[in-house]
Amino acid sequence: MFPLSPGPVGKVLIVHPPVDVTPLAESRGSSSEYPLMPMGLFTMVDYLKRNGVEADLVNLALERMLNPNSTLERVIRGLEADIVAISLHWFVHSYGAIEAARAFKKLLPNSKVVFGGFTSSFFAKEIIDNYPFVDAVIVGEGEETILELAKSREWGKIDGLVYRRGGKTVWNGWRKPVPNLESYTFTNVKVYDKWQLYLKCSPSGYLPTRRPSFWLNVARSCLMNCAYCGGSYEGYKAAMGREEAIVRNPSRLAEDCATLVEEYGVEVVKLSHDPLIWGERYYSELMEEISKRGVDARAYWDLTYLPREEQVKKALKAFEGGICWGLSLETTSDRTRIGVGRPYSLADIENFLTVVQKHDVILDGYFLVGLPWCTKEDVERDMEYAIDLMKRYRNVYMVPPFPYTMDPHAPMALRPRDYSVRKLCSSFECYRKLVKSEKWESWVVHETDQLSKSDIVSLTRKFFKRLEEAYSSGDYGENVARRYSFEHEGALLTLAPR
Ligand code: SF4
Repeated sequence: MFPLSPGPVGKVLIVHPPVDVTPLAESRGSSSEYPLMPMGLFTMVDYLKRNGVEADLVNLALERMLNPNSTLERVIRGLEADIVAISLHWFVHSYGAIEAARAFKKLLPNSKVVFGGFTSSFFAKEIIDNYPFVDAVIVGEGEETILELAKSREWGKIDGLVYRRGGKTVWNGWRKPVPNLESYTFTNVKVYDKWQLYLKCSPSGYLPTRRPSFWLNVARSCLMNCAYCGGSYEGYKAAMGREEAIVRNPSRLAEDCATLVEEYGVEVVKLSHDPLIWGERYYSELMEEISKRGVDARAYWDLTYLPREEQVKKALKAFEGGICWGLSLETTSDRTRIGVGRPYSLADIENFLTVVQKHDVILDGYFLVGLPWCTKEDVERDMEYAIDLMKRYRNVYMVPPFPYTMDPHAPMALRPRDYSVRKLCSSFECYRKLVKSEKWESWVVHETDQLSKSDIVSLTRKFFKRLEEAYSSGDYGENVARRYSFEHEGALLTLAPR
């Protein structure tokens, strides 16, 4: 029951929703679920508990994978809470979060069901207007707001809340974001009872052979403003209300790396942001702090700047187990890549490739089809370049591209004209419907002056197939095996036909 007066505090259940609700055995299969949780859910549960609130975390995507014949209702039956806080962070959960809210309200009618995260923050009013079983949306960063919610029924006094009062949707105004992250803990992994399983999950599911890995929070918001990214400076501000990006203290971050490895057996530490975003000094200090602690681990992060050779060496000294970097090539067109916010040319990439090859760093290469100003010819050239790179560099694995769905609060969605983009989806309802679709066509929600929606879909499909065929041919077995071994125990001896 929800407490009738402020205190005693109520129990909070933080929920990572599923993508779909059909029992997995009858649906598209485990690859349609997304068991990775936003990093902040661990922080939030820890913060509530340290402030005297009973709190728990449930991962419905993972539960569905563990119980493939169960309905959502059966999975959640028996869970108890005064506040059910469902994370609607990534738009891919738009359908599943609503269905989870519906199911929780039915099973626990006296509980308050609240949403939080990027997507629900951005669409808060529309969600409260349309879904009576969602009582409130926490808009912006959630730790302080959910703590107040757990301790008080006076919702009118809680900043950062959109809720229903007297049949009307009320917005209490932004909560001032915290000036630093020092009062939060980012590595209390055991607040989740299935943490050992969770550390072996990737976006598509649990695999026993995976090396335990964990995403570690480096910063909030970003100094960069990549046109397609909802977590960019502009996208973060639009959804979460933070004007200035903040980054964590390097020695605390290094301490967290050590904690993950020593207490939880994490083998691959994944950094949420490229430390180089915060400058050379910050980068060097962080790598030195990690080196000092003798952290026995590998690391992964997505590059924003291309590190120089001495910076590559510093990273390898910090993470002696090895490094895998995500390299967003995006396109061979310098005009587009630089225009969407990636600060390097194709010539810079070529130089960088020789450095990382020399130091045996693994690279995940990403191309994105449907970026502003890109032509069909550009994308055709990208496909050939991707294959050529893998021929020349066996440490490169090109990730077959899926259709890019524009984040509702990415800069190119917020200012489509500046990027010569037309938006085809602007409401929460539109995103909620599209994530149910198995058709690639449904997932593309923009077009550019150069490429129609159907061009983007057919070129993405062609690119995907081109890489799929390349892998099936066996010619790139070494590229695949090296990437596989970075993340999994044991070598990949035979390449299964795809
Ligand atoms: S893609 Fe990465 S670097 Fe670019 S804005 Fe997003 S978080 Fe920042």
